[in-house]
Amino acid sequence: TRPGGMRRHAVLPVAALLATVTALLAVSRAAAAEAAANGGLVVEAYGEQQLARAVQHAESNAMQADVAALSFAEVEYVRALRRRIHAVPGVLYEEHNASRIVREALQELGIPYRHPVAVTGVVAEVGHGEPIVILRADLDGLPVREDVEVPFRSEIAGKMHACGHDAHSAMLLGAAKILKERADAGQLRGTVRLVWQPAEEGGAGAARMISEGAAEGASAAAMVHTWSGLPTGVVASRGGPIAAASGKFVATIRGVGGHAAQPHRARDPVVAAAALVQALQLAVSRLSDPLEPVVLSVTRLVAGGGALNVIPNEAVVGGSFRAMSKSAHLALRSAIERAARTIADAHGCEAELDFLDAAVHTTALGDTWTTKMYPPVVNSHALVEVAKRAVTTAFGASAWREMPPLMIGEDFSFFCEEMPCVMLFSGHRKPGDADGEHTGSAHHAPTFEIDEDSLPYGMGALVGTALAMLEDESVCRPHGVEMAGGGGFQGRAVQDEFELARAAARSFGS
Ligand SMILES: [Zn+2]
Ligand SMILES: [Zn+2]
Repeated sequence: TRPGGMRRHAVLPVAALLATVTALLAVSRAAAAEAAANGGLVVEAYGEQQLARAVQHAESNAMQADVAALSFAEVEYVRALRRRIHAVPGVLYEEHNASRIVREALQELGIPYRHPVAVTGVVAEVGHGEPIVILRADLDGLPVREDVEVPFRSEIAGKMHACGHDAHSAMLLGAAKILKERADAGQLRGTVRLVWQPAEEGGAGAARMISEGAAEGASAAAMVHTWSGLPTGVVASRGGPIAAASGKFVATIRGVGGHAAQPHRARDPVVAAAALVQALQLAVSRLSDPLEPVVLSVTRLVAGGGALNVIPNEAVVGGSFRAMSKSAHLALRSAIERAARTIADAHGCEAELDFLDAAVHTTALGDTWTTKMYPPVVNSHALVEVAKRAVTTAFGASAWREMPPLMIGEDFSFFCEEMPCVMLFSGHRKPGDADGEHTGSAHHAPTFEIDEDSLPYGMGALVGTALAMLEDESVCRPHGVEMAGGGGFQGRAVQDEFELARAAARSFGS
């Protein structure tokens, strides 16, 4: 803008400039021109778009700083929802109660949604147009009997929200409320897609949501997991691998039973199973790259059970195996398969391997679902920086912490196969539990509890990160660019990460 008639630049106070341009955006061009003329200003059309962008940017920055206040203002809203969800947990594709509570809340907020997606999942959107960024929460509880005396304790026998997914679902509703108000005020650039998925705890709900369209057209995704290892008020993450690729196996070794006194007339599966348990640890120490974190635990060893003078027909060896990259995970899977077959063969037995990655299950209501191995969660370095900026702008520099990678599995990884992702952790360790060793706050334990004062931080991290992702499209998947099939983005990130580690190691000599 410049003073009418005079060819001289005027410096307006920023607020007045923003008000003028906001009016310009809100009213017709003609009305805006009139308003400008009345104010003695000439508005040049070629600058309109840049100015509009500047206004959005200024508003977005102001909003970033506002995220803390907005989140603290919604703490009671989120607390009440979290308690309602907590009282009625459901597991693996049976999260009908949580799903209903989410849908009722969305209806009250006037946010349209899609349901059912992946049986109990819900997908809603606020704002419109490109880019589309995803905020994701999970709905499921665990088959754990709650051992915490709270007024909102689980009303469902043998089921409990023992991982904090009740808080995730409620925080996402709080974020939805804040973002909806921004969108209604015309202050949201692009679209925030809100995804509530079922079956994170072993049911690969994220993969099913994606197969039913939840990731379509989206350019980036973020999630927050509450975390007992961190104090309230802290949000943490790191670039690169943060959660492990995770799989399970069951090896059934079939021999020929017989008399304990005549082993030569039998084919003893027990000795083969014992050899396999040992060999699997050798696969970790001898066949895996020492620079790649890998863990394999045999958690099931079953044979016999009847008379002690009988060699049984079969033995079962089962367990869990994890790695921080897909390639290391697949290599370990092959090693397990090879070890089971060759060792069984050496003992005159046969091995049958099941990696439980295509096992079909049926819920109480008759819905079917399939298990899957989880890829690793690999955070985009750029998105972690964006989230860090959002969190520290809202809550101060001390609110951010660098997170070490974890060997837990997390099916948000399926989103990471599709687009740049960031998995954030929000601390919920109560004040006074300084060492974090409070058993009452361990995830998946019957005594699991969260400090509800942490809710605004997780919610703020979601809102702030969403706004920042919309604001800085360079961190998103370029529109129209296809990922190179399963693990395009992720595969590359993992490779970069471990290439660096290898290069560092090589620089020390062999
Ligand atoms: Zn969990
Ligand atoms: Zn969890």
